[in-house]
Amino acid sequence: MNFMLLTRIKEIVEEKGFKSFKAKQIADGIYKQFVSEFAEITTLSKDERAQLEGESILSLEVFRVFRSQEDNTIKALLKLRSSGKLIETVLLNPKPGLWSTCISSQVGCAMACSFCATGTMGFLQNLTAEEIADQVLFWKQFIRKESIRDSESGELAKLSNVVFMGMGEPMANMNAVLDAIAELTNPEALDMGARNISVSTSGLVPGIKLLAENFPQVNLAISLHAPNDELRNKLMPVANKAFPLEKLAESIRWYLEKTNRKIFFEYILLKGENDSLELAAELVEWFKKINAPHLTHINLIVYNKTDSGHEESSRNQAREFKEYLTKNGFPATIRRNLGRDIMAACGQLVIKQNQ
Ligand code: SAH
Ligand code: SF4
Repeated sequence: MNFMLLTRIKEIVEEKGFKSFKAKQIADGIYKQFVSEFAEITTLSKDERAQLEGESILSLEVFRVFRSQEDNTIKALLKLRSSGKLIETVLLNPKPGLWSTCISSQVGCAMACSFCATGTMGFLQNLTAEEIADQVLFWKQFIRKESIRDSESGELAKLSNVVFMGMGEPMANMNAVLDAIAELTNPEALDMGARNISVSTSGLVPGIKLLAENFPQVNLAISLHAPNDELRNKLMPVANKAFPLEKLAESIRWYLEKTNRKIFFEYILLKGENDSLELAAELVEWFKKINAPHLTHINLIVYNKTDSGHEESSRNQAREFKEYLTKNGFPATIRRNLGRDIMAACGQLVIKQNQ
């Protein structure tokens, strides 16, 4: 069973024999003031705080923190208290006033995508719902402790957005991911907006269905990377063999019908592999089958180099690819990931740490 923080607070209060209203005070300390230790909750008496000594709030602890010199990106390696394994999470500030975190759902990943550092680790373990949601709480605590300020408002950074684009395939650990989203959006806990949460998947059809049924307001991002099965099987062997492009298109049509929400497609441009205009034309044909240009957006991603042997496309090729899609009615933008100097793309840091 997943041991979520709110439940644990109630249990602690009972166990220690505190008055039951103390549960609310502790929850306020954790979710409104973002204290890092129970001892910082000033509404508790000295004696109560002493009784909570040694109890940790988070299911993970900080191992190392890396700050980008290029932008405000901060990456943390966190150690799971349960197994000692490391995961990555990133704090992003794409523009003044907007703070977002990229969180992990698994240690490693079984999908073995050829371009992805996490994919080369293989699958090590699923995270629990608590370990997933605690990454967000970790950053809320970090912002307060380190006094991370927004350049526009001068106030402490207001972390409002969450993307499941860290290590792992969220839809291969869907029960925990759904429980974590429930915790993130719970008004008594982190109280985040469902529309500010995005789940990125390599295209696992049952997960897409579960997301639409449970959290239709949560954004869906699909990692596409290729317009035909032959190429997609090479780049994303596990995901595409399980759910080839025809099946994926069918599931996307169903999703759009059900939710009427825009889907974001990720397409990493890999030099000489998936970036030709012939493939752009195939991509347009595939999107025509979905037939909802106003509800699809294509993010063309500049590749972060790993040891995989792939290369990023030239700027010129990327621009031509983008213009082809846009001219043919399917809007696309080129996106450079933040924090390239601290290897903020998926899995890169844990791998380096283990080398
Ligand atoms: N497993 C999920 C979510 C994690 S990966 C998925 O695949 O969608 C999140 C995004 O990071 C994906 O779009 C993935 O393709 C991208 N990514 C992985 N390695 C990358 C790299 N080296 N450079 C740029 N993007 C990368
Ligand atoms: Fe797993 Fe996503 Fe990396 Fe593929 S890109 S190996 S699905 S984390």
